[in-house]
Amino acid sequence: MERTLLMIKPDATARNVIGRIISMLEENGFKVVAIKSKHFSREEAERFYEVHRDKPFFDDLVNYITSGMVVGIMVERENAVKALRELVGATNPKEARPGTIRAVFGESIERNAVHASDSYENAQRELSFFF
Ligand code: GDP
Repeated sequence: MERTLLMIKPDATARNVIGRIISMLEENGFKVVAIKSKHFSREEAERFYEVHRDKPFFDDLVNYITSGMVVGIMVERENAVKALRELVGATNPKEARPGTIRAVFGESIERNAVHASDSYENAQRELSFFF
């Protein structure tokens, strides 16, 4: 069984949809292994998103992700990394397939409700921020 990280971002925790997002995980065959809430420091946010350091939206992204509580959820399933990216949907909620988490809960390309690790290696790295 493979494990990966779903992180509920500050826009979604502020809108009281944590439970509904966890329900979508459970309805799609993911087993919740561990859950932890936290508030990222600037330094942690910059490290979490270090691959985006040179992007024009990096400062906005760090401001957003440090603006409130996030919830890290370790999930387990066969092909968990790929299956979770499919359930999460495209980065821009307007382009996300209907029924995906971002189509249902995302507000904008930045405030898109959740993060999901994009590879097995990144899942290990990102899980270590929470567990
Ligand atoms: P993801 O893997 O689908 O989350 O997408 P990326 O790794 O490309 O981007 C990481 C995060 O940066 C996204 O989930 C958004 O929150 C944010 N982001 C991506 N593209 C943009 C953009 O063009 N503008 C802004 N403001 N934020 C963006």
